[in-house]
Amino acid sequence: MKALFSISLAAILAIGVAHAGNFTQANTDKAREIISAAIDAHGGEALLEDLQTLRISHETTNYSVDQSRGTEPPWDESSARGVDAIDLDEQIFVSRSENAGGGFVGENGTIINADNSYQINYRAGTVAKIAEPDYATASGPFVRVTPALLLRTLNDRIANAHYLGDTTIDNREYDVIGFSMTVGPAISLYFDKKTRLLHRSERVFPGFGLVEYEFKDYETIAGTPFNRNFVLRLNGDVNLERAIVSVDVNTPLDDLLVVHEELEAIAELQPDPLSRQEIADGVWLIGGNNTYAMFVDMGDYVFAAGGTGGSKDRIKSLREVVGDKPVKYAMMSHHHFDHVLAVPDYESQGATLIAAREHEKIVRRAAEYGDALSIKAVNERMTLETDDRRVDILDIGPTAHTEHLLVAFLPDEGIMFEADHFSLPRVGPIPPAVPSTVTFAEALSRMDLKVTKIVSAHSPRVATMDDLQTALQAEVFQASR
Ligand SMILES: [Zn+2]
Repeated sequence: MKALFSISLAAILAIGVAHAGNFTQANTDKAREIISAAIDAHGGEALLEDLQTLRISHETTNYSVDQSRGTEPPWDESSARGVDAIDLDEQIFVSRSENAGGGFVGENGTIINADNSYQINYRAGTVAKIAEPDYATASGPFVRVTPALLLRTLNDRIANAHYLGDTTIDNREYDVIGFSMTVGPAISLYFDKKTRLLHRSERVFPGFGLVEYEFKDYETIAGTPFNRNFVLRLNGDVNLERAIVSVDVNTPLDDLLVVHEELEAIAELQPDPLSRQEIADGVWLIGGNNTYAMFVDMGDYVFAAGGTGGSKDRIKSLREVVGDKPVKYAMMSHHHFDHVLAVPDYESQGATLIAAREHEKIVRRAAEYGDALSIKAVNERMTLETDDRRVDILDIGPTAHTEHLLVAFLPDEGIMFEADHFSLPRVGPIPPAVPSTVTFAEALSRMDLKVTKIVSAHSPRVATMDDLQTALQAEVFQASR
């Protein structure tokens, strides 16, 4: 029996190998042919290899799918403008952008330049050294939206390229090539059969879905075609539209590498592993990697506030201090996708989810068994009270970030848990308030809440009302330009 099996397996393998050899050879030849024609169309190999530096400035509109103030389309828009630049020989990458929307404003910069790599917050006026700069990971997103750079990478990694087939979209015929970069999932590149230019690309992220890139309105600059417009779609929805304002080929990047001397140097960014802080007797902030939740020992049960990802580990840490006391209630602050990721974990704990009435549908959608999920829908406010503790759950919306926002307030301790309205960096000075922080502060005074400690979903640093005042009064740093 064993011998027979071995023989037939060998026969199958032999046939398989023979077929694969022919198919692979034909496929590889076809891929090389298409890539070679595409490289010619994009300026030719010599020109692409001569490309040393590239600087592209843009104006971008983002559509906040499932991250808007309301729960349904039309989605809120936010805008950004900035510059990305790369030096391919020196492995330097610079990205700088200003953005506004969703209750936030920011101006940030990243410089990846070996030992002189920095993360800059121009609004706060701070600069942090990057201890382990990663050129490939940092420049990857820019390379993926820049056809000339994609073509160069494709040529360098031609051994990783395969012909996937041809297709027609909107009356245009395409040859499709698949290849992988050093980081991230494989990319499919769509080359127009007539012009040989790259018009579309796609990547599939397991558990998330399809990301589509569309390159539009080519114009030749310094012998190389560059797209003047770009569209990004997530699972079919337009997520981002970008207009290219300027393209500079092979000009020095020196001006972008200067770190303004008036910026305040703050400590290097360090990893943020899971930790547990006891803020008051029986009240813990547990989390890491920029996401945290608050847990309150109510005597017979535990109340949880905050629904960001990573809750399995947080519940494990909670068990070390409360034993097997049930998590009876879990409050979801608002409907944004990163704030309902914990719903299935609380669901499996048997908890009743607490959410603003308007967010009930989204919390059910985030659950494993949405129809059966136990939900307490809050209209303005509710109170949980035991012999040991009182928790007020209040809708303090609308704010600049969301129409409804549930916060958990412990009036006896003066502790408030909130999400997305007042996050402090782990180290360094308190940055100037963004619009969402301003509307949060207004809500606290309007409702006359005696808060002494603010605990946040994205901050390991517990803030005081003085910190909030500092943020509201802090002046925006004026950069040199
Ligand atoms: Zn949010």
